[in-house]
Amino acid sequence: MRQGFEPFTCPECGGTVRLTTGPGRTREYRRGVPPLAVPDELPIPTCEDCGDSFVLVETEGELNKALDDRYREWQRDHLARVVALLQRRHDATKRQVASSAGITPSHLSHLLAGQDAASATLLRLFESLAAYPPEFERHLQGRTFLMPAPFPCLAWRAPQEPLTGERFAAADWRWSPPPPPGPANDNVVQEAV
Ligand SMILES: [Zn+2]
Repeated sequence: MRQGFEPFTCPECGGTVRLTTGPGRTREYRRGVPPLAVPDELPIPTCEDCGDSFVLVETEGELNKALDDRYREWQRDHLARVVALLQRRHDATKRQVASSAGITPSHLSHLLAGQDAASATLLRLFESLAAYPPEFERHLQGRTFLMPAPFPCLAWRAPQEPLTGERFAAADWRWSPPPPPGPANDNVVQEAV
C-alpha cells in the first residue's frame, strides 16, 4: 500500500474511502471502447459503501499506462475482427482491405500484429466500412465517390435481413434504380453500370 494515504470520508455517501486492490475492476476509457480492466495489484482509493473511486496521484500515471496498454490490445483484436469480417463478407484480400482505407498492406500488417496502434479515425473508418457494405464494395470496384448523388449505389437485395459477418455473394447486390426525374434530382449523376 502507498505510504501517506489516509482513509477519508466519501463526499458522495459518507462512507469510508480506502486503498483497494483486486480483480474485476474496470475503467471507462473512450467512447466506443468497452470499459478496460484495471491491473489487480494497482491500489485505487475506493469507497467501501458506494464504490466510487478516486484518483491517487501517485498511481495515476501507472493506471493510465496500463489502460493505454489494454486499449492497444483491445483495438488490435477489434481491428482483426473487423478486417476478418470484411474479408469474409466480400471475399476480399488483405491488400484490398488496406486499399479501401487508403493505407498500405504493410501498414495494415503492422496494425494487425500490434506493432502500431491505429488512430481512432482509422478505426472508425474500418468500422464504417464494416457497417456499410456498399461503401466497401464501391472501393473493391475502384469506383469514385460521387458527391452529392445518393443514386445509384449498390443496394443490398434483401434489406429486411440484418447484415451480419457472414459472407455473401456478389449476386446478392444490385444497383439501385435511378432517381425519379425532377428539379430536386438535377444534381444526381447517373454512373455507368
Ligand atoms: Zn461513497
